[in-house]
Amino acid sequence: MSVTTTATRRPVPVIPARGALRPLGLDEVELTGGFWAERQRRNAEVSIPHCDHWESRVGWIDNFRHALAGTVEQRTGREFADSDVYKLLEAMAWESGRTSDPRLDARIEEIALLVEAVQDDDGYVSTKYGRPGQEPRYSDLAWGHELYCFGHLIQAAVARLRTGHDDTLVRVARRAADHVCVEFGPSGRDDVCGHPEVEVALVELARTTGEERYLEQARLFLERRGRGSLPDIEFGRAYYQDDVPVREAEVLRGHAVRALYLTAAAVDVAVDTGDDELLQTVRDQFARTLARRTYLTGGMGSHHQDEAYGDDFELPSDRAYSETCAGIGSVMVAWRLLLATGDTRWADVVERTMYNVVATSPSRAGDAFFYTNPLHKREPGEEADPDAASPRALSRLRAPWFEVSCCPTNVARTLASFAAYVATVSDDGVQIHQHVPSRIATTLGDGREVELEVETSYPDGGDVVVRVVAAPAGEVSISLRVPEWSVGRASLDGEPVDGPVATTRRRFAAGDEVRLRLDVQPRLTVADDRVDAVRGCAAVERGPLVLCVESTDLPAGVGVDRVRLAADAVPRDLDDGVHVSGELVEREEGPWPYRSRPATTPGATLDVRLVPYHDWANRGPSTMRVWIPQDRP
Ligand SMILES: [Zn+2]
Repeated sequence: MSVTTTATRRPVPVIPARGALRPLGLDEVELTGGFWAERQRRNAEVSIPHCDHWESRVGWIDNFRHALAGTVEQRTGREFADSDVYKLLEAMAWESGRTSDPRLDARIEEIALLVEAVQDDDGYVSTKYGRPGQEPRYSDLAWGHELYCFGHLIQAAVARLRTGHDDTLVRVARRAADHVCVEFGPSGRDDVCGHPEVEVALVELARTTGEERYLEQARLFLERRGRGSLPDIEFGRAYYQDDVPVREAEVLRGHAVRALYLTAAAVDVAVDTGDDELLQTVRDQFARTLARRTYLTGGMGSHHQDEAYGDDFELPSDRAYSETCAGIGSVMVAWRLLLATGDTRWADVVERTMYNVVATSPSRAGDAFFYTNPLHKREPGEEADPDAASPRALSRLRAPWFEVSCCPTNVARTLASFAAYVATVSDDGVQIHQHVPSRIATTLGDGREVELEVETSYPDGGDVVVRVVAAPAGEVSISLRVPEWSVGRASLDGEPVDGPVATTRRRFAAGDEVRLRLDVQPRLTVADDRVDAVRGCAAVERGPLVLCVESTDLPAGVGVDRVRLAADAVPRDLDDGVHVSGELVEREEGPWPYRSRPATTPGATLDVRLVPYHDWANRGPSTMRVWIPQDRP
């Protein structure tokens, strides 16, 4: 750990006190085109206004007006509805930081003034608890989500501070954070919130304001968890990670989003307090979770009923929960581990999860979202009513809004700030982690300035060209991540690259280019045979994209349950996408689905067209599967 960050109010979501790599801000990296710039544009033009519209429409912003007016009986939404307003504010804050759109600043101020008006003198703020006619404050720490809501309020304020605004929202959040430090400090309540989140927010507030007590409060919450202060419930205390202290756990378990937000906070606390033992522990927990409890898409969470991780290798495709927010939580953890350790395999996790979970959630138009991201749909889903909120896990196709609508605003804040996840710097080099058309203008750890342009058609194509626009004096390293699937099949300026990073170190002049070539040809993937749910199946991936077969691309009336891959199938690129040879099986229907010999016989050969998983269900109702049965020789 060599680089120490000094400026803490740069427009960057995560600024550790120390670490192997220094993150870059929205003022240092600009997405200039391609897959993510397009999604960022759509997020700004459609998704953020869409979320604002729905939060107004379903009354979650009005909840603050009801709290003021004393009409709390008219409050709508779940106990954590305030948090979705705050996540919208965070998305707007990053977007404002990126584009300086004054309409966003005006809207942020308008909502923040409303929140401020509701805030009590001691900093507590909630539309759900503490007023006449409501349950008292902190009367239900297990399910009340009060500290969870404060966490999102604080994260929104951090985004605001770091994008140059010390305004109402910041004032409100700091008062809330001060309240938390008094109420739950060393001489306060010895309790934790049922949903981790305030911890990761408090660390970032400490980093932004320089006030150590916020970090100390986060550390306290972290150390308190796992000692059974929350009630035992039907899912067990593992549901909210109150079963085992963070330091003693071996793997992520329970509610996936809770586990991931807590793990992100544990990395932050470990890094900022210099607790290398804790860092090693949570790194091992996350590594084991990736090795045994993660879907091919990077998605996490196998149980619908408690939105939780399953046992090791319990990864059913059709019942995959894989909540969009869990994908974002995994990106949060992986990114923090990358900054702390410099190990680029964590950037592989960011890439896989961004392309195959986070990008899957929004529709092409940006006005509907997936909450869960299963890898197999057996029945064509119904189109969601564009005029109604859906129960969270029941919608088959993307829905405009949910009764629990954590995911849309989580996607919005992540896309608005995504430029910050593209590259980092060290003392004397730039590391490019995500291959995105972009402009990077930054200062190295040793103070020298450098400006680069990245051009690529990735993930369609595998060539990444880095052009030096302004070169510093002396030698500089430019490093490009080689994704795990291209290791051994990559080259840098024509020379083969063996490892996970392609680095060139020399003196550069303006106009010099570095060319990375990755092998994005489609490939077959099989699972560890302990993932019983997909044994005997193969999936097709191309570059960072997981592909799927969708009934939309099959003969009329044929579902994906009749598709089998040929034993010698080799996926190949054609003009309209990736194709693979397969067959349509014939099947005997019977009174009982078990017998002494297979009920299927080979049928007609079939050319199977595959589409990126992130784009499925954009062409109407369909059946879909990522893992396709295959009789291998
Ligand atoms: Zn969610």
